[in-house]
Amino acid sequence: MVASSVASVVVVGGGIAGVSTVTELRKNGYAGGLTLLTADPFPYDRPPLSKAYLSGAKDLESIALQAPEWYAGQRIDVIRGLAAALDPAAGTVTLSDGRQLSADRIVLATGGWPLWPDIERVVRGLLDRPPAGSGIPRSTTGIHLLRSAEDADGLRAVLLPGARLLVVGAGLIGAEVTSTARKLGCEVVLVDPANPPIAAAVGAQVAEWLHSLHALHGAETVTATVEKVESTNAGVVAQIAGEASPRTFDAVLLAVGMVPDTAMAKEAGLDVDNGVVVDDHQVTSHPTVLAVGDCARRQGHRRAEHWEAAVHDGARAAATILGVDAPAASAPWFWTDRYDLHVEVVGEMHEPEGEHEQVVRGTLGEPPFTVFTLRGERVVGAVAVDDPKAVRAARRMIDRGVDVRAADLADPSTDLRQLLRSAR
Ligand SMILES: Cc1cc2nc3c(=O)[nH]c(=O)nc-3n(C[C@H](O)[C@H](O)[C@H](O)COP(=O)(O)OP(=O)(O)OC[C@H]3O[C@@H](n4cnc5c(N)ncnc54)[C@H](O)[C@@H]3O)c2cc1C
Repeated sequence: MVASSVASVVVVGGGIAGVSTVTELRKNGYAGGLTLLTADPFPYDRPPLSKAYLSGAKDLESIALQAPEWYAGQRIDVIRGLAAALDPAAGTVTLSDGRQLSADRIVLATGGWPLWPDIERVVRGLLDRPPAGSGIPRSTTGIHLLRSAEDADGLRAVLLPGARLLVVGAGLIGAEVTSTARKLGCEVVLVDPANPPIAAAVGAQVAEWLHSLHALHGAETVTATVEKVESTNAGVVAQIAGEASPRTFDAVLLAVGMVPDTAMAKEAGLDVDNGVVVDDHQVTSHPTVLAVGDCARRQGHRRAEHWEAAVHDGARAAATILGVDAPAASAPWFWTDRYDLHVEVVGEMHEPEGEHEQVVRGTLGEPPFTVFTLRGERVVGAVAVDDPKAVRAARRMIDRGVDVRAADLADPSTDLRQLLRSAR
């Protein structure tokens, strides 16, 4: 058991960041009171919402982050409810129904909202973005957002064979939903002004190839912005820039990014700047309040919006509360799936012109293959398609800062583990 001076912790938000925080606290011997507050029915995982959950291959129970009995076994009090106010000095969280929770440390793990795009719209009956957990469906007018299981249920209901779906935004979520909807037999039009989208995340070459897969799988891609979306009795009518007349769809998914959920933190006087600002220990501008996951941004860093980053934040917050060293940091990693391909990205694929070189291992566009980004002889990033071993090796290369030869990386017969060993 760890002798922590912190007698009680309340974690607000039951996504992966919140669950990681409570899991790591107990795993590392925290014996104090632990409460997990969540607006969702129970803590579940979000990545399947655009993949196996959306396709119907998995149900809500099967994407639970922990089995219900696990929380009881770990003496974690899971409370369903919506936090409405935070008082850092008093150490209290007030719920929308008036209940109050108090603790020595409060951890904010409130995640974020889908970004509402700047589109002129005449949406009959649609409220402006209703809050998570408010119970107000966000998809009654054929215009959908995707962040919660409730959102996915609403979208799934319209993804019937032959349904016409407009996806606005070809980022990770828009692309995954396009792939899932095609699998379900929908007609999909995917619109994004960037060509190719997600080049900053995966590098231009891979981005271009990934984007081309949509057409190959029967989705129409349009490089443009959507100027207007209107919900009518005949369906959702959308005007795509540059097109002579509007098109009618059965449903529209707005997938143009997310915004961190920081309203309560701001109201409580905490520093907020594109996320609740935290230090390297996940501590906010008030010493008893921490923030983790998509809602938080470490000072001097870009805000991460990925699953593993949220897991690491939770581990760091738990270490801070326990007064022990945080686990060692590793190069950022995320994955995405589309058209039965598994794409993993580690480190930075977007490098300034002229300072970097990209090396393909295998043949670009013929999975498995990997593209490494090198700065001099240092690997700084890699994107692998159906090649998890290569991305694991790349991560070790980045973490250890080893020098490698581009020709060795490019040669698929070179054992990357051997390369790592000999580089020590
Ligand atoms: C559809 C989808 C697909 C994704 N796919 C991938 C992927 O393939 N790979 C990848 O790396 N990442 C993916 N992500 C991103 C990843 O899921 C997020 O980075 C991760 O969920 C962040 O975890 P979090 O706990 O910070 O926030 P969230 O998962 O958003 O959890 C926040 C929780 O806080 C609760 N909450 C919010 N406000 C309150 C309040 N006031 N009171 C009580 N509870 C509150 C919410 O209900 C929610 O349960 C995906 C995200 C989505 C939406």
